[in-house]
Parts: sequence; C-alpha cells; structure tokens
Amino acid sequence: MSESCLFCKIIEGKIPSVKVYEDEKTFAFKDINPQAPVHIVIVPKKHIASLAEADCGDEEILGAVQVAASKISKMFDETKQSFRLVNNCGADAGQTVFHIHYHLLGGRQFGWPPG
Ligand code: 5GP
Ligand code: ZN
Repeated sequence: MSESCLFCKIIEGKIPSVKVYEDEKTFAFKDINPQAPVHIVIVPKKHIASLAEADCGDEEILGAVQVAASKISKMFDETKQSFRLVNNCGADAGQTVFHIHYHLLGGRQFGWPPG
C-alpha cells in the first residue's frame, strides 16, 4: 500500500470505481476513460510501481493477474473470443499510474503494431 497511489486508494475503496472482479491477490475495475467497448484495469493488490520493479517472489502475484484476466474475459460477450492485454511500463511506453496494471481491451478491431 502506498499512501499516494491512486490505484491503492481504489483497491481500498477510498476512491470509487466500478469493480468487476476481486480475489485474494488482484482487483479489477472499469477504466474511467475507455479505449474500447470493454476496457478493464487489472491490478495486483500489492503495490509495485511498474513491471520494471517486479522482482523474484512476485511470480505468483503476476501470474494471478493473468489468470484474473482470463476469468474476466469470460464475463463479457465482447471478450469471450478475443481480447488484448496491455501493460505500459514506464512513461515513454504510456504509463501514467505507477502501480502495475494490465489493460484488458475488447469489442473492437485492434491494429499492430500498437501506436
Ligand atoms: P496507464 O496510462 O498508466 O497505462 O493507464 C492508466 C489508466 O488508468 C488509464 O487508462 C486511465 O484512464 C485510468 N485511470 C486513471 N485514473 C482513473 C480513475 O480514477 N479511475 C479509473 N477507473 N480509471 C482511472
Ligand atoms: Zn499502489
């Protein structure tokens, strides 16, 4: 838990969010500025600033996030068949909130490479 972290505050319920999933290690909520018909933010409950800060011992937590993504994808018709899971690591890659999170996006066609 980081006192100044937006996503820690969302996990704790101090800032409201539309929760879609929670388990022992993960929390997921609708993105406030969706980039696709389905846009869910999935976070580990443990505060880690970015994927670059992840270390030995975080394997279980990061694995739990991916399993949560698979479960959440089955909750929406738009993501049952196909979805994109994105992690932006560092400011140049587009990270704006420094608590590891994965974007689960679906319901439209995606291009490659990403912009
Ligand atoms: P990043 O740019 O760091 O990869 O993603 C951060 C995401 O968090 C953005 O898609 C942004 O819309 C979302 N976000 C920022 N503030 C809030 C908030 O207060 N509530 C919710 N639900 N999403 C937020
Ligand atoms: Zn945090």
